[in-house]
Order: sequence, then structure tokens, then C-alpha cells
Amino acid sequence: MPGIYVLVEHDRGEISPATFEALTAARNLAQRLTEEVVAVFIGVFDSDFNAVCTEYGISEGVVLASPLITDYGPELWGEALSQLSQERTPRIVMSVGTDKGNEVIAHASARLGSPFIANCIEVHRDSDWTITRMQWGGSLLEDVRVDTEQIFLSYAHHSVEPETAALSSDANIQIVELELDSLLTRTLVQERAAQAEGATLSTASVVVSGGRGVGSADAFAPLEELADLLAGKVGCSRAVTNNGWRSHADQVGQTGTRIAPEIYIACGISGAIQHWVGAMASKNILAINIDPEANMVTKAGYAVLGDLHEVVPAIIEEIKRRR
Ligand SMILES: Cc1cc2nc3c(=O)[nH]c(=O)nc-3n(C[C@H](O)[C@H](O)[C@H](O)COP(=O)(O)OP(=O)(O)OC[C@H]3O[C@@H](n4cnc5c(N)ncnc54)[C@H](O)[C@@H]3O)c2cc1C
Repeated sequence: MPGIYVLVEHDRGEISPATFEALTAARNLAQRLTEEVVAVFIGVFDSDFNAVCTEYGISEGVVLASPLITDYGPELWGEALSQLSQERTPRIVMSVGTDKGNEVIAHASARLGSPFIANCIEVHRDSDWTITRMQWGGSLLEDVRVDTEQIFLSYAHHSVEPETAALSSDANIQIVELELDSLLTRTLVQERAAQAEGATLSTASVVVSGGRGVGSADAFAPLEELADLLAGKVGCSRAVTNNGWRSHADQVGQTGTRIAPEIYIACGISGAIQHWVGAMASKNILAINIDPEANMVTKAGYAVLGDLHEVVPAIIEEIKRRR
């Protein structure tokens, strides 16, 4: 009965790709711990939930519903998850360590006075739990021992490659109606500013980023063009946001967005640790820099040593020529 309960992250029914990481991590963990995985969807049931459970080989799903849960609210979602965790006493309650995932799991665990271990990369169970988690934006790995039966945790975002199940199975979905206090709706999303269409920085398969070396807001135009040609997004370093050249929404790094594209093109970025931790999950990195000793150059799989104001237009030219 206990099992591994996974929070399904979604925005009004649209399931976040982070959930696929969480379900994959939970499935792998369940095999080792001989537990069942249960996916937990909070809000109004959406058929996508069923489809995702089937695709990821999750045979049991729970929808936590209440007339009060009309949208995302950390207190509401946290209380809903804590009620379920108290009643069913799962061994593990988990998510991926996105802002939303960490927020909900933190609320749920705090309500039960249970330990919450965030940004894990390894979880083992002998007489206690032994967990390796990322600290300091990934520059430090810490081993933690926890001696409770039940733990709440989040897996470090982008530390698990999502993998659908070899054998899909029809999920048994149960809808559980909860009684919740209306005070919990204090922090409930009620309206949204228009969102960018399509991929975001964290889901894009190509990211073209600029750093201080770009020199000005206007000088990002060729990076925009390159990103467009590759159907990617433009990112930047904190030096750029500090200078007001681009908004914080574009910042990659410890205090920005963590990305995991197929290719990351870092133009005029030195690769300081706080930037690197946000970019290191990229499958391939191309650094364009004048400094052969720059961290980004020495860590990248590919590098072009040269002035980005010449190299980026040359890449654009070549892509256009080949097309
Ligand atoms: C608590 C904390 C959190 C932080 N969080 C973040 C974060 O989330 N993200 C982040 O990015 N930073 C973050 N920082 C800042 C980080 O430490 C660095 O200061 C920042 O990343 C540097 O940005 P940069 O690489 O663009 O600039 P620089 O370090 O100044 O590097 C500029 C690079 O451009 C190259 N260059 C210059 N001209 C050219 C040219 N014409 N062509 C090619 N290359 C050229 C230079 O050789 C150099 O390598 C954080 C710092 C702290 C203390």
C-alpha cells in the first residue's frame, strides 16, 4: 500500500514536461524499492492525466478535487497533498525541483512536520534513507541520512532524462473529493499575463545566449536571428540582465532558469559557476569567446575562438547558404 506518490505539475490541465522527469525517476526508484508509483493530479480531472499515466506505465492515479481548487495555489495544493499523504502514508511523496514542485512539496511536508529533501539526485533505502542532493546551485553534493519512514523530496530539475515506459498500462484513476478550508485560497492564481507562445527557455531544444561580451541590448539582434533560424530561444547571463539589456526572464543560471537544450550556444559568456549550473544539463555546448581560458570555453564540447560579432553573423550566413 505505501508506494511512491508523484505530484503531477500542470497549469490548468496542461501537464508540465517536468512531470515526465518525476514519473521516470519514481518508476526507476519503485523498481529498486519494490513499491508502486501513484500519480497525483490536483484540480479538475483532465484526460491528459490519463494519457500521461498510460504512457509512463503508471497504473494508479489519484485526482484530488475540491470546488475551491479552481487554479494553482501553493497552500491549497500543499494541504490537498498533505491530506492524501496522511491518509495513505506513502513511503515517498515527490516532485521535480521546479519552483512549483518545491513549493507544493514544502507546503505539504511542513503541514505534516515531515522532512523535505530538495534537489536530490540519488535516493537509497537501507535501515534509513540515504539521499544525495545538490547544494549551492549544484556545485556541492551533500549526503543526507533521514530516519523517518515517510519522506518528501524533489529531484533536481533536469537530472533525470524522461523515458516513457516500455509497456504502457491503463491507469486506474480515482477521484478523491476533499474538504478544504476557504482560508487556503489566499494565494490562488486568478489571472495570468500573456505567456510567450511555444517553447520556453527551459524547454527549448536550442538556446542562443549572450553575455557581457555582446556589448549592448541592440547587439543581441544577430543572436535573435540565429535563435530564430534554429527555432530556439535567446538566453543571457546575469551581467546582461544587470545592465538592463534583457529581462530577467531570459537569464540562465542559479538565479535564473535552468536549461537542458540539445545545443547551447554561449556567446561572450565567461562561464562563472552561477551561470554554469544553469547551463550544465545542456546536451552539447558551443562557446564563442575571445578568451581561450574562459571557463565556458574549457568546459564546452565545442568552441570557436573569436569575436562573436564576426562569428555569429558568419554562422547565420552559412546556415542561410546551406538552406
Ligand atoms: C549569488 C549569485 C548568483 C548569480 N546568479 C547568476 C545567474 O543565475 N546567471 C548568471 O549568468 N550569472 C549569475 N551570477 C553572476 C556570475 O557570477 C557572473 O558574474 C556572470 O555570469 C558573468 O556574466 P558574463 O559571463 O556575461 O560576463 P563576464 O564574466 O564579464 O564575461 C564576459 C565574457 O565575454 C567574453 N568576450 C568579451 N568580448 C567578446 C567578444 N567580442 N566576442 C566573444 N567573447 C567576448 C570575455 O572573454 C568573457 O569571457 C550570480 C552571482 C552571484 C554572486
